[in-house]
Amino acid sequence: MAELSEPQSPSGVSPLGAAPATAAEETMSAITSGDGCGAANGLVQALLRSGNDVASGARPILEARQLYKAYRKGRHEISVLRGVELQVRQGEFVAVVGASGSGKSTLLHVLGTLDAPDRGEVWFEGRRLDTLSPREKDKVRNEAIAFIFQFYHLLPELTLLENIMMPALIRCSVPVWLWQRWSARKRAWQLLDRLGLASQANRRPAELSGGELQRAAIARALFAQPKLLLADEPTGNLDPANASQIAALLRDLNRNERMTIIMVTHNWELAQQADRVLRLADGQLHPVCREMPGGQWPATSAPDERPAS
Ligand code: ADP
Ligand code: MG
Repeated sequence: MAELSEPQSPSGVSPLGAAPATAAEETMSAITSGDGCGAANGLVQALLRSGNDVASGARPILEARQLYKAYRKGRHEISVLRGVELQVRQGEFVAVVGASGSGKSTLLHVLGTLDAPDRGEVWFEGRRLDTLSPREKDKVRNEAIAFIFQFYHLLPELTLLENIMMPALIRCSVPVWLWQRWSARKRAWQLLDRLGLASQANRRPAELSGGELQRAAIARALFAQPKLLLADEPTGNLDPANASQIAALLRDLNRNERMTIIMVTHNWELAQQADRVLRLADGQLHPVCREMPGGQWPATSAPDERPAS
């Protein structure tokens, strides 16, 4: 059975500001790491990544440097993130896997400024995020970083159309909203149509299936044309057919619109859609070889099958 590859360098890429790892360096690293996928596969993976580099201009859109985060419960401290290093290129699709409780949601929240790290830095488009004021963080999230979650988080009293227009409602003052509401409505309709939900526009969340709700949540996330999409177990509550549909949708967004996506998932099929798979374990990210026989998780790395927390 193939083993996970876990080179010493957590992400295999150099920090923001330093020159990015060249294809040759990555190739050499893949060959010399002697991972379970074999050097030939490592070579292919490194060349594929270098192709991605060329296509994207190798511009890191997001970087985490030495992220630490602990929670205190009474006298106990749970150390969740312990020196996370991550660099994500513009247009890249990264999957993060890991056991339940390993800190995947915490990591996404810290990357997306919903939560603050105890130590370390988060950089987005060359700007440090973790030191911004709460108001500035809100602005970044409203304009550039969108989330989707396992349980959709749509407002039950609003229709789908209204839910999708929520980002515009939150962002605007009343006069601006009155001025912009027709264009906001038009954009919401376009998104609903594109995601196959036009006929459901005036229904409330309670009347819709899980797959429809997640598509609506994706439409809401896309409303403000974000540059980065953070997805936390987006198929965790869906049956296989709907999960495949969401997987195809995310892949399509990434390929055709070059949306940068970081997605936490328990679903190996979904993880396989990504350009790169990382595993969060012991508070750090480790590269994962994607070439598993039969698409199975190796026993040593199988994530907990319990629903995500
Ligand atoms: P995952 O998403 O991988 O399942 P989480 O990031 O949700 O993991 O949680 C990681 C660990 O941190 C878990 O042990 C969880 O109980 C704990 N944790 C998460 N959020 C909090 C919180 N707000 N307060 C205390 N402990 C928390
Ligand atoms: Mg979680």
